[in-house]
Amino acid sequence: MKSDIEIAQQAVMKPIIHIAERLGLSEDDLELYGKYKAKITASTLNKLKKNKSGKLILVTAINPTPAGEGKSTVTVGLGDALNKLQRKTVIAMREPSLGPTMGIKGGAAGGGKAQVLPMEDINLHFTGDLHAITTANNALAALVDNHIHQGNECRIDQRRIVWKRAVDLNDRALRKVVIGLGGPLQGVPREDGFDITVASEIMAVLCLAADIKDLKVRLARMVVAYNVDREPVTVGDLKVEGALTLLLKDAIKPNLVQTIEHSPAIIHGGPFANIAHGCNSVIATAAAAKLGDYVVTEAGFGADLGAEKFLNIKARNKEIDPEIVVIVATIRALKMHGGVAKKELGVENIEALRAGFANLQKHVDSIKEFGLPFVVAINKFVTDTELEISVLKELCEQAQIPVALTEVWEKGGNGGIELAQKVLAILEKKEQRFQHLYSLNTTIEEKVHAIATKIYGANRVEYSSKAKKQIADFEKYGWGHLPICMAKTQYSLSDDPSLIGRPEGFSITIREFKPSIGAGFLVALTGEVMTMPGLPKTPAALNMDVDEDGKAVGLF
Ligand code: ADP
Repeated sequence: MKSDIEIAQQAVMKPIIHIAERLGLSEDDLELYGKYKAKITASTLNKLKKNKSGKLILVTAINPTPAGEGKSTVTVGLGDALNKLQRKTVIAMREPSLGPTMGIKGGAAGGGKAQVLPMEDINLHFTGDLHAITTANNALAALVDNHIHQGNECRIDQRRIVWKRAVDLNDRALRKVVIGLGGPLQGVPREDGFDITVASEIMAVLCLAADIKDLKVRLARMVVAYNVDREPVTVGDLKVEGALTLLLKDAIKPNLVQTIEHSPAIIHGGPFANIAHGCNSVIATAAAAKLGDYVVTEAGFGADLGAEKFLNIKARNKEIDPEIVVIVATIRALKMHGGVAKKELGVENIEALRAGFANLQKHVDSIKEFGLPFVVAINKFVTDTELEISVLKELCEQAQIPVALTEVWEKGGNGGIELAQKVLAILEKKEQRFQHLYSLNTTIEEKVHAIATKIYGANRVEYSSKAKKQIADFEKYGWGHLPICMAKTQYSLSDDPSLIGRPEGFSITIREFKPSIGAGFLVALTGEVMTMPGLPKTPAALNMDVDEDGKAVGLF
């Protein structure tokens, strides 16, 4: 079997100008980054605003398991299939982070015959967006420390600085550091730490900003520290939002690339799905909607995290309201939810499949809470047996869940025709009735309660005394109207990763809140959240190389 990179390198790309022309764009609408990558200019994005928006298809999944689900693969394959059916479709996806690329095996640009190209570039430095975000993040950190060194006019309490430094790598040694050592000329010593770039609030801000003006407003709102009176100190107080926006002036423009089958794909932004909302940028999704009659986009982790955040945080702007949700499930992952160990997944197990189906059923119920129609995509693996496939289809049909077998990994767009046809049939029939799960005017506790009970299936929410105090403080600062961004394990509907399947009768504990005021949400932490991952014992980097012609080897 060929690896993802071997399949990607054998594909013949078209010049990106040709892909853009099919969308009605000319070379003047693009800033070319070589022959196969381009950014769409700000003036073109402005011009596109008058176009009607296409229909948005949101791809999500059951709770992830180590067996893998294939959301990105299905997103790409569904886009290819819709284009094969002569529907003008644009794919909108996230940019990969170098941390996981060097660490875990498995690409972030789709897989098999359903991939975006040039996959090496997309997985490495791409058009430099993540480097620009890293630089803006660290420029702000340097400006905060300089502010203190130069007299601390904002009276920042040095023990209450919340802005950390960032690097786009998995580097556990940088989680906690001490800076400013070496005497009065080297600054003020203090404890600091690094986050991975995709966990930086600047990434979330860039992804939720409507345009460069809004980007600046959001950057100015970001809280960097608290002063000696425990009042928030913002980027606006330090008067550096202009400089940060300048550093991001190119990173904010969406990137156009193509799939193996030459479907247009816009890849832009990639915030963490725990500490942030885990979706590509609003600018990219809106641009895709203005350029295509259909947009296929995805949200990170399972529907309880990614889709919930897409629908309650990102989709607060009519332009990008989804009209249908595709829920990706694999027989392997459902068997794991039914209690099968990873090494036993190759063996047929109908009983476990039936038990694991409860997890899928819960996500279907959750999507119904938003009033949206849905289709389940069974992402077929070669190990799935005929009987397992027919049982899963039967379970779906009995529960009146539309379902399509999807073979895009193996066959590209041709393997996604059934899914595309089902999506189109539902879109034609159904009136959109999308509604948010909660109104922004409700209290912080009411919002958390709505998510925990309606999406996770919990029966109550408990708060630590710290969280309770924070709620009171946040109301006082005027942050109570913001949506909630839950930070919870992706492996379970509960906050306990070992509770697989469809747990019941559990409570969710909110340990702490973290305000992301620039992004415009309050993160509710249910457990320890990793914002700087480490590398595994055998990092993917050990397989990587480059030949004398500069061709990448072993990147997935
Ligand atoms: P997700 O978006 O859910 O994280 P991806 O689409 O990125 O998942 O897929 C993760 C990995 O699994 C990729 O390396 C991809 O090639 C592989 N994969 C996805 N679907 C299949 C499939 N049907 N058969 C075999 N491998 C697959």
